[in-house]
Amino acid sequence: RPRVLSGAQPTADSYHLGNYIGAFRQWVALQDEFEAFYFVPDLHAITVEYDPAQLRERTYVAAAQLLAAGVDPERSALFVQSHVPEHAQLAWVLGGVTGFGEASRMTQFKDKTAKGGQDSASVGLFTYPILMAADILVYQADQVPVGEDQRQHVELTRNLAQRFNHRFGETFTVPKPYIVKESAKVYDLQDPTVKMSKSTSSPNGVVNLLDDPKKAAKKIRSAVTDSGTEIVFDPQEKPGVSNLLTIFSVLTDRTVDDVVADFEGKQYGHLKVALGDVVAELVSDFGSRTRELLEDRAELDRILADGAARAREVAVPTLAAVYEASGFAAPR
Ligand code: ATP
Ligand code: MG
Repeated sequence: RPRVLSGAQPTADSYHLGNYIGAFRQWVALQDEFEAFYFVPDLHAITVEYDPAQLRERTYVAAAQLLAAGVDPERSALFVQSHVPEHAQLAWVLGGVTGFGEASRMTQFKDKTAKGGQDSASVGLFTYPILMAADILVYQADQVPVGEDQRQHVELTRNLAQRFNHRFGETFTVPKPYIVKESAKVYDLQDPTVKMSKSTSSPNGVVNLLDDPKKAAKKIRSAVTDSGTEIVFDPQEKPGVSNLLTIFSVLTDRTVDDVVADFEGKQYGHLKVALGDVVAELVSDFGSRTRELLEDRAELDRILADGAARAREVAVPTLAAVYEASGFAAPR
């Protein structure tokens, strides 16, 4: 079976609606057709300021949320990145074939340092895409289900794989991004020109999957909408309403056209109330499943240990092949 690989950072107390719509729904859908590797990228999470005790707790909460979202540990390997040391080892090797200039062109780094300035950013945040390339290539992944914001990093990964193969002989599968156009980017509810995000969104702009259902509905109802009154899908002229329509259509498994037709002649307020109810139900179910899973830490540990063992079955031989191709003298 072809392979998929993806992760979502434990950089907040909860994942958000953008992660769910842009990523997790695809992860879950791909489990049958693909050999799937899904992980909690704790190594990525230390590239910004953080608290160690909080990171440890967030790693468990993240794993529980991925299970609550529908990742099935029987079919997919679910693990914590730092449990598979080959990610970091491969990242170092890939650093040697990454140009400083090409790394400097990554827009996520620019976005994430726009506020604080690049001088106070860590080198880890800068080299983040190289570790992400290692995450993907160490599993010889064919497809990488991500949101639109990660397209550039997957493109870099493809370039690094091709370059390495060209210089040192066929070693890596060249992966493709798996991006579902309609749902690839969910926008901040308070500023529908920027993506909904754990680290850069306004508190009321993000619906967290672990939000209290009433609070989640309220955030939707107070979303910034556009001038005019007509409910139409027009991301250029009406980014606020269009964002709500996208969310509505994905969560109810209907086309945007279908949803628009339903709201013909109605006002923004009607759409917001209806979507608020849909979102409240989602986070209510999601929250209770997550809390239930968090009650049995021993079971979570077991799932994550099993996932890491399955991951290493693929990662260890890949790294060995990379070391061999790189010209490292094997220890004898
Ligand atoms: P951070 O601010 O810590 O980077 P994030 O909100 O960007 O957090 P990630 O953990 O970086 O979330 O991303 C996990 C997955 O969710 C990735 O596949 C990413 O592309 C996707 N994703 C993140 N934000 C959105 C969004 N607003 N819309 C659609 N997909 C998203
Ligand atoms: Mg991100």
